[in-house]
Amino acid sequence: MRSHYLVFGKPLVEDEEIEEVAASMRAAWLGTGPKVTEFERLVGEHSGVPHAVAVSSCTAGLHLSCLALGLGPGDEVIAPALTFCATINAIIHAGATPVLADVRRDTQNIDPDDVRRKLSPRTKAIMPVHFAGRMCEMGALTQIAREHELKIIEDCAHAIEAEHHGQKAGTFGDCGVLSFYSTKNIVTGEGGMVLTRDPAIAERVKVLALHGMSHDAWKRFSGDGYKHYDVVEVGFKYNMMDLQAAIGMHQIGRVERYWQRRVAIWKRYDAAFADLSVTLPSPISPNSRHALHLYTLLIEQPRAPIDRDTFIAELHRRNIGTGVHYRAIPVHSAYKERFGWDVRDYPNAYAIGQATVSLPLSPRLSDEDVDDVIAAVREVLQR
Ligand SMILES: *Cc1c(COP(=O)(O)O)cnc(C)c1O
Repeated sequence: MRSHYLVFGKPLVEDEEIEEVAASMRAAWLGTGPKVTEFERLVGEHSGVPHAVAVSSCTAGLHLSCLALGLGPGDEVIAPALTFCATINAIIHAGATPVLADVRRDTQNIDPDDVRRKLSPRTKAIMPVHFAGRMCEMGALTQIAREHELKIIEDCAHAIEAEHHGQKAGTFGDCGVLSFYSTKNIVTGEGGMVLTRDPAIAERVKVLALHGMSHDAWKRFSGDGYKHYDVVEVGFKYNMMDLQAAIGMHQIGRVERYWQRRVAIWKRYDAAFADLSVTLPSPISPNSRHALHLYTLLIEQPRAPIDRDTFIAELHRRNIGTGVHYRAIPVHSAYKERFGWDVRDYPNAYAIGQATVSLPLSPRLSDEDVDDVIAAVREVLQR
């Protein structure tokens, strides 16, 4: 058995960003500044969009995207029933009403057919999530959006590398939002980025992220001399710090190398688990690139010898950390109370949420770590 615990989702942090953070500290420029601007440029270039606005988290970015697109009270936003709570919370904080669509059993992504069933005269937007890094069916979703004049905000928290026909996730809709939270594909500790082609949306997100103060208020203490600012609307405190961007500007340069490492781990898992009585991730659809954020197994009894929670406990006993992404949104009490949702109305999201477990999949893993995960999973499932 492993001698030390394998922490799920622990990121790889390398010397370049350690030096860059130290340089920011020595220069005592901690808050929003030139490194944030540089990180925005690098991420915009990587995704192929003209505007990338750094914010304090993906959650903040989703919230501001809703506001910048004019979503608010009385508007319905269709989102998947299988996602992180932040997707749904952002819609609610904007004052709009989330309406859940079920996901597909195979891809675990939002089902465009169920999106059509959930349309109402109040529907104003769709918020697809590229789940585990797999591209949603953006052709079908953008078709629905065109027919019904809906906005699209892509939750790209798992999907910075995802592409369809060479076009990056986050560039199909009106906005796409990335996460650099510590477990994501590249990290800044906490952080997010709003991607858009529309300069007006980018400007509105920027203003809202810094109290609603007029343009580039962070420059007001710079060498050019003090400038007055105007509060043009009531905003939020959602800006990214240079300390965070100092990490991200080096991580983004390794996005491909980290992805390649996850490709290798993914292939080893696929081969090692093919004969087990569990469901592996569906094959990757042609013409698209999977961001490979989460390697999920579905542990369903009676096919599997044990249930999902026992599996997690057995791996934990063997010093292997796992994750659950996610229990279905309608199982949570706050949403049940507020919206009266019944999880039985979302059978695929519910079934997946009861059976899913995510295995470690980080560029930090050594070949020996991967050996340990494989040995433990096989041992636990073959008993
Ligand atoms: C992590 C995550 C978020 C929130 O990201 P933060 O940067 O932590 O705010 C939103 N949606 C999904 C699907 C996520 O996995």
